[in-house]
Parts: sequence; structure tokens; C-alpha cells
Amino acid sequence: MLKPQLVEILQCVQCHGPLEYQPDSHDTTRGKLICHNCRIAFRVENDIPILLLDEALSLNGNDETESAPSGEN
Ligand SMILES: [Zn+2]
Repeated sequence: MLKPQLVEILQCVQCHGPLEYQPDSHDTTRGKLICHNCRIAFRVENDIPILLLDEALSLNGNDETESAPSGEN
């Protein structure tokens, strides 16, 4: 499980906004770091945040079908 102090300093690599940490309920060394601005989630594996856009998961909802975030500055 990531330390809250660590989560606080982590930023989305795309918009540099804050990330919301959601540990896996079964294995807290895994989880997700969610950017609500970009609607993407970064994986956490073995307590290591994988802050790579290539590895990020899209959180696109049902009716919002914006294309995946692409260098929009
Ligand atoms: Zn973002």
C-alpha cells in the first residue's frame, strides 16, 4: 500500500493534476492511481506506481466517447 505522503506528491504525467489512489481490496500492493481530469488510471504493481501514459488505462464512461488523451498541451 502506497504511503499517503507519497500519493500526495504524485502527479498525473499528462496534466500534472492530483491522483486518487485506489488500492486493490485483496492485494494492497496493487491498485490504481486515477486522474479524474484525464479520465485515466495508472497501475500500481508491487507498491510501484507505473506513471506511464503508454500503460495508463482509459476510464471513459458510457456516454462520453472522447478519444483517448493525446498531447493536448
Ligand atoms: Zn491527468
